[in-house]
Amino acid sequence: MDLTHPGIGRGSSLHGLDHCTPTQRALRALIAMGVFNDGYRGAPPRGWGAHRLIVYGFHLSPRYDDLVIFTDSPDNVARCFASWRAKRPAFPGWRAVCVTTHVRLVHLPTGAVLGVEAVDSDRRRSQCASPCPGSRHAKYMATDAPLTEEEDTELGAVPPMSASASMLLAGLFARMTLTAADGSWATGGWFSCPPEVSARRSFVPETGRVLWGSHDRWSLSWGGFPDAEFVAAALTDPHVGLAGAAAHDDGRAIVVRYGTASLTLAEDFRVSPPISLSTTPD
Ligand SMILES: [Zn+2]
Repeated sequence: MDLTHPGIGRGSSLHGLDHCTPTQRALRALIAMGVFNDGYRGAPPRGWGAHRLIVYGFHLSPRYDDLVIFTDSPDNVARCFASWRAKRPAFPGWRAVCVTTHVRLVHLPTGAVLGVEAVDSDRRRSQCASPCPGSRHAKYMATDAPLTEEEDTELGAVPPMSASASMLLAGLFARMTLTAADGSWATGGWFSCPPEVSARRSFVPETGRVLWGSHDRWSLSWGGFPDAEFVAAALTDPHVGLAGAAAHDDGRAIVVRYGTASLTLAEDFRVSPPISLSTTPD
């Protein structure tokens, strides 16, 4: 479990959660689309399989030009992203560099890389640029395989995103597994609240998630943990927040703004109006 680090000002970006290459930012925003759409209410990226990430224990290490997911189940987590060649491509664009006890994937449309490693690995293994001995990468699409028509179609279903919105959604994903040092909030992998944090809501698996919008206006709706206040706190925390992000609670939902973009957070479907899956800005 990541802990936030007191003493690191978010204005300095020293926490590193948002300081990354444009390719990494684009990848993280796209992963957010996959992870935060699930269930029958979910927008089309629910079919990519990345929503299953939350059922595995994991934490994230977002670096400047790299992203590593640490987990007890590297194989299973890798298959939330890349699917075996024989199966229908799920999350569009993943190609496998190396698949052993660690996994190295490259995402063709963005050019960004993702590593998946066991939490107990004694050193960073997943930065390999070529297959390690015993790699099972041949089960997956090869790095020189161009985008398929189906992958192109899937990517085309993702609405256009402004630069500010891309920062906001990438930052949302990067903060999926944080716990405040003072125990005032946690995002808990969108699954379980750490014992030191007191949440209003518990995990409700059947309710699903919806992340949708276009250009500058986005909404995220889900059921159960984490509390919307926790998600807003993660994005605006004085130590690990997204520099420049601010949250406002209008009584029905919390709206987080960053630059020209807004993200409306509504953690309870029962009190939230359904999110329109239109991509036309209103
Ligand atoms: Zn390797």
